[in-house]
Amino acid sequence: MSGPEFIPAAKPIIGDEERAAVDAVLRSGMVAQGPEVAAFEREFSEVLLDGRASVAVNSGTSGLHLGLLAAGVGPGDEVIVPSFTFAATANSVALTGATPVFADIEPENFGLDVASVESLITERTAGIMPVHLYGHPANVLALGELAERRGVKLFEDAAQAHGASVDGRRVGTFGAFAMFSLYPTKNMTSGEGGMVSTGDAAVERRLRLLRNQGMERQYENEVVGFNARMTDIHAAIGRVQLTKVDAWTRARQENAAFFDAHLRGVVVPPVAPGAVHVYHQYTIRVLDDRDGFVKALNDEYQIGSGVYYPIPNHRLPSLAHYAPGLELPETEKAALEVVSLPVHPSLTQDDLDRIVTAVNTLAGAGA
Ligand SMILES: *Cc1c(COP(=O)(O)O)cnc(C)c1O
Repeated sequence: MSGPEFIPAAKPIIGDEERAAVDAVLRSGMVAQGPEVAAFEREFSEVLLDGRASVAVNSGTSGLHLGLLAAGVGPGDEVIVPSFTFAATANSVALTGATPVFADIEPENFGLDVASVESLITERTAGIMPVHLYGHPANVLALGELAERRGVKLFEDAAQAHGASVDGRRVGTFGAFAMFSLYPTKNMTSGEGGMVSTGDAAVERRLRLLRNQGMERQYENEVVGFNARMTDIHAAIGRVQLTKVDAWTRARQENAAFFDAHLRGVVVPPVAPGAVHVYHQYTIRVLDDRDGFVKALNDEYQIGSGVYYPIPNHRLPSLAHYAPGLELPETEKAALEVVSLPVHPSLTQDDLDRIVTAVNTLAGAGA
């Protein structure tokens, strides 16, 4: 007898339309950055950024790195980032030669804590880079006000937050630049890729130069740059996904609403007033034996889940030297307690019921 089918933590949706779009690019014989990338940039700006300009690159990490360089960040500067995030956030700061400075998070939404950030601002601070973690907007209104008051820039790591908003304004339109990842497990994908948005024409031009060996015109290299171009193959996938991302976000939000209404015995994710959460992850807190809970979900109930992120950045072997002896209480607590449940658009009602029953039983709250 076979048991119930395994429910994966994430499931990229790639179908016939994406395959046909890739095939058309391959048949054209022109596969490097070209008209598909240009169209993808225009459409991304229209669909997700209320028209703010966007520049496509080959990964989200490249997008953060080039965004920081284009905004003028370099050696001697400090950029304040959360420690409770994927390492790419701080890596991108370190790659510019600047120093990542780790601030603590708000316990409710896992975004940068404004008071913690303010206590870390020095004369070297060039910018503050919140992460819209799990698809919930960080407190960009207060952080933006703080940045302006202290004369530093605001940058956004929006890797997980396509379509999220605060008071009706999209994330990705608050910072000097913002980055969206297009990795397969994100809310939409191009295979690999990243999109950088900016409202500053000078930053946009530097981004376009930096991704292409410093060239605007062929062989007239103006600055030392990278090859961080997106291919037309990837852009063709991204353009199809862009037509679906709003419907997928609604499906994520409906799945989250079902969990909110039915989960018992665990801390469900609150949504800040005025915020639209796009549920890249539906992240609960399990206050007692989180790791045992994750193992039982997997082994006894065939339900995948994720712990994002078990080791805070300031304790990683690669980054700990930036923050010797640092203690960030809310960050450390979150790293011990969080579990992200499947919330992706492919879940069926049966899957949702199974997840609720499993979580409530394991949390001792009954089915
Ligand atoms: C995925 C992710 C990145 C990096 O994006 P890639 O496209 O994988 O390079 C950066 N920051 C956060 C918060 C992410 O989730």
